[in-house]
Amino acid sequence: MSAVRVATASPLLPERVAAAAALLLEARDVTLLSHVQPDADTLGSTLALGIVLRRRGASVRVAFAAPDRMPESLLPLDVEHLVVAAAAVPERAELVVACDAAEPARLGSLAGRLTTAGATVMIDHHASNPGFGDVQVLDPGAEATVVLVHQVLAAMRVPLDVDVARCLYAGLVTDTRGFRTAGAAAHRMAAELLEAGVDPEPLVGPIMDAHPYGWFAALGRALERAVLEPAAAGGHGLVHTVVPLADVERFRPEEIDSVIDVVRTATEAGVAAVLKQVGERRFTASLRSRGDVDVSVVAARLGGGGHRAAAGFTRNGTAEEVLAAVRAALDPAYTPRPRTA
Ligand code: MN
Repeated sequence: MSAVRVATASPLLPERVAAAAALLLEARDVTLLSHVQPDADTLGSTLALGIVLRRRGASVRVAFAAPDRMPESLLPLDVEHLVVAAAAVPERAELVVACDAAEPARLGSLAGRLTTAGATVMIDHHASNPGFGDVQVLDPGAEATVVLVHQVLAAMRVPLDVDVARCLYAGLVTDTRGFRTAGAAAHRMAAELLEAGVDPEPLVGPIMDAHPYGWFAALGRALERAVLEPAAAGGHGLVHTVVPLADVERFRPEEIDSVIDVVRTATEAGVAAVLKQVGERRFTASLRSRGDVDVSVVAARLGGGGHRAAAGFTRNGTAEEVLAAVRAALDPAYTPRPRTA
């Protein structure tokens, strides 16, 4: 996700978009990688490129390291059946394209394919991205990675068909929380996608607005457990809750990842955190900010990354230990450890 657009693109961005387009137009075999726990932006990006390249006659596969199945709500985007198991990704791919991964580690067990590939392209919009890959299409000012994919497709002079447009729209509408953080150019892009045939409601409803009734009780418990700490984050306030392992294992990521969208609405808190238990002593945390606190910096202090308004990290420990680390990282007096390049 993206919110306040502060970062600016490299002046070299148009050249890099053109270089990526040239590589993709030449490639006979393309491996498109999404980040672990893939969302609509990363899969919308890889699938949009994949659909175009497959229809041009290239051998194409789309993969992500974990989990071992597609998010159910995103299955309708894969009209060419491009998604393969991580194990089916060649050890030495001709061309690897990583989409929406803020760093190689976000590719999980597939990160190594970047080093064995004949050539690599990175397309991303995370401010925390240190830069990797032979061709780097990186713009922290872009609201979503699909915005950059749209530019690459334009440079390839590929007309948008409805299947490609749906993939791009899915990434755009979710990363901008329904266009609330979208700038004028992103709205123009959305208009182009609608003109290409996208019907928003049947596309977006199942992705953003659909949960099983059985989820309500677990959501209710997560909200009952929520704690407000008004003094945290230098007085901006922190609201947090935990989703226990039993619920994480029982429900789809679509349900678990929606908890933060409710918790973040607490008006008394500048920062919201949801700790999702993924192991006996392991948590994946989602952080959201109302704007004053840059949670990408907070997440980076805890080994993760993301955007100013939305970020995350994974950490070992008890829930209380992870929360203590969050409080410490939110403390304005926090002194970052020296980082090595
Ligand atoms: Mn994104």
